[in-house]
Amino acid sequence: MSKNHEKSRAYFEEAQKYMPGGVNSPVRAFRSVGMSPLYIESGKGSRVIDVDGNEYIDYVLSWGPLILGHAHPTVVQAIQASAEKGMSYGAPTELETEMAKLVTELLPAVEMVRMVNSGTEATMSALRLARGYTKRNKILKFEGCYHGHADSLLIKAGSGVATLALPDSPGVPSDVASNTITVPYNDLESVKLAFERYGSDLAAVIVEPVAGNMGVVPPLPGFLEGLREVTEQHGTVLIFDEVMTGFRVDYHCAQGRFGVTPDLTTLGKVIGGGLPVGAYGGKREIMEQIAPSGPVYQAGTLSGNPLAMTAGYTTLKELGKPGVYEELEHKAKRLEEGIAANCREAGIPFTINRVGSMVCLFFTDQPVHNYDGAKASDLDRFAKYFRNMVEAGVSIPPSQFEGMFLSTEHSDEDIEFTIQANRIALKNL
Ligand code: PMP
Repeated sequence: MSKNHEKSRAYFEEAQKYMPGGVNSPVRAFRSVGMSPLYIESGKGSRVIDVDGNEYIDYVLSWGPLILGHAHPTVVQAIQASAEKGMSYGAPTELETEMAKLVTELLPAVEMVRMVNSGTEATMSALRLARGYTKRNKILKFEGCYHGHADSLLIKAGSGVATLALPDSPGVPSDVASNTITVPYNDLESVKLAFERYGSDLAAVIVEPVAGNMGVVPPLPGFLEGLREVTEQHGTVLIFDEVMTGFRVDYHCAQGRFGVTPDLTTLGKVIGGGLPVGAYGGKREIMEQIAPSGPVYQAGTLSGNPLAMTAGYTTLKELGKPGVYEELEHKAKRLEEGIAANCREAGIPFTINRVGSMVCLFFTDQPVHNYDGAKASDLDRFAKYFRNMVEAGVSIPPSQFEGMFLSTEHSDEDIEFTIQANRIALKNL
């Protein structure tokens, strides 16, 4: 019997009268998967329950932040205790220094850090800082990477822009767009050509060290090292956008996992433990250019908000317990292997990419190293697969251009259930 989504559909009808597309962020509208979005009533651990009472094992996890699962008791208690003391003061608190210390301990490349409220703010501010520091204008980004919705970064972007197959966004002035150079991910030759042409005016290279907004695309061996080398040669700031990978692929983020040191790092998602947080940090010499110690301006009414700092700090502390990342790796590997075996059994062409607890199944038998590779996936098949997974009780991101995330709360039984659900979903394609 098929699942009932009556209430979700009714809520969405109503929402579309008052909000563009019925949502506050585009991919949530489920446009590319041919069904109405699921309205979520609650989440606990690895599960979410929708408004029609259907339960799902959840691999969206709020698009990555909930690495400890939904409503982790330690985090919830910490937020409650913090709320009792007031929501926000607009004054410094000791916890902000504790958070900054923890981040600088975990990331040796980050000598100083500034907290903001979203990943978009983090990347936007990091770019301004790189431009202010180098006194150059141009930046280089990679096709299919998404770094939030700041003007400079909405060029050949991944995530929702890719999901909806949108052109570069109207509203971005052409002279802003002309300062953004894009090249294919994992293509060092193109990077070098761009440097030959623009080298003396490139303020920054910004990269997702594991691309997670065109599905999951790992860096090929030598790619990140090559970026480090060429940026160093040209005095260009290397920014690792670790909004998604930060504290997700390793306790020391992707830079720790791959052993490559950027000049600036942007963070978001996990560092907020489910509340709205972003951060950017890096070399002291660069960070000291930010106001009030330097002239590059950036500020925020709610930046360093006590509730958000509490959620993030508590989450990071939990993640520091022994074995957390090994366990995540182990479970994600089991999931990857189970899905791969199912695809083989069903005779379906596939590629599965995984880095730590980020996993993505593409419906193509070609390796996926960049955006063109990701776009070669059979998107109609993905849409059907997505609906079949929902029917089987598993919530995955409603887009081929996003990866699944695991949490510490996904049990071995959850993984086995998911592998069975995947088997059925593939069979019914
Ligand atoms: N950078 C990366 C790598 C991201 O994945 C995202 C969001 N998915 C952002 C930046 C933007 O973050 P936010 O949605 O919090 O603005």
